[in-house]
Amino acid sequence: MPLVSPYVLKSALEGRGCFLVDGAMGTELMAQGVPPSGVLLANRDSPEKVIAIHERYLQAGSRILTANTFGYCDGKPLADYVHEGALLAEQAAHYSAMPACVWLSLTTSFVRNERRAIPTLVRHRAVLLETCTSLAHAVEAVQIVKEASPAFIGLSFHFKADSILPDGSNVDDVVRETTPLSVDALGANCGDNPESFIRLVARLRLATDCPILIQPSAGVPKGTAIERWQYPIQPPRFASTAKTFVALGVRFVGGCCGTTPAHIRAIYDFCFREANQT
Ligand SMILES: [Zn+2]
Repeated sequence: MPLVSPYVLKSALEGRGCFLVDGAMGTELMAQGVPPSGVLLANRDSPEKVIAIHERYLQAGSRILTANTFGYCDGKPLADYVHEGALLAEQAAHYSAMPACVWLSLTTSFVRNERRAIPTLVRHRAVLLETCTSLAHAVEAVQIVKEASPAFIGLSFHFKADSILPDGSNVDDVVRETTPLSVDALGANCGDNPESFIRLVARLRLATDCPILIQPSAGVPKGTAIERWQYPIQPPRFASTAKTFVALGVRFVGGCCGTTPAHIRAIYDFCFREANQT
């Protein structure tokens, strides 16, 4: 089954239902010995690991793959690694047994600092600007990406547990400033326990008609070294909360840091298996 065009994803949003996104890439690579500073470099140094993780998410039921394009690599040509990450995800989706779409996960700092590379990178691709902590930077990054005509753009913020951004903006501020941008999805990722997103979803539902995207972490990690962090929320509890998101009308559900193919499979079994009858 070929890679699904992001234009198809955009038109599918006019219907109903929820799309199952994938889970973490960075923490999955770290679990295989890739250092935190090497996550983006893995696109070139060990592409087989990146492809294998994409394939495990596809097998778990994900229909949207997040390219390994989020992060930093000091002193390296970042745009080149982002381009290679996009190609790896597209390759995995292209050979998938089920139709799958790909989006590029980008930081607002990457978009703002490398704006000359953006038109080539995002043309005919879907983009998810995620883990945004500054509303002003997010607005600027969306404007840059939109100028380059992406096929689809999602915008996801990293709220604190009280649904406030680190820059002090609240949900109403986010909706007010982003509504004129007409993004295709708006939501939240990373953060605290998944249950803490339920109130946020309810507030977003009241404030906007924009399709909502939610991708929590598997809880707050414990441990000292980042590559050995332990994430406490196991797949059954994660999937149970995801079912609440789906019931509340969330259109994209997946996972952030510490989530694994097992978390995504649990969501699939709990929320999607009956609809797909597989
Ligand atoms: Zn995260």
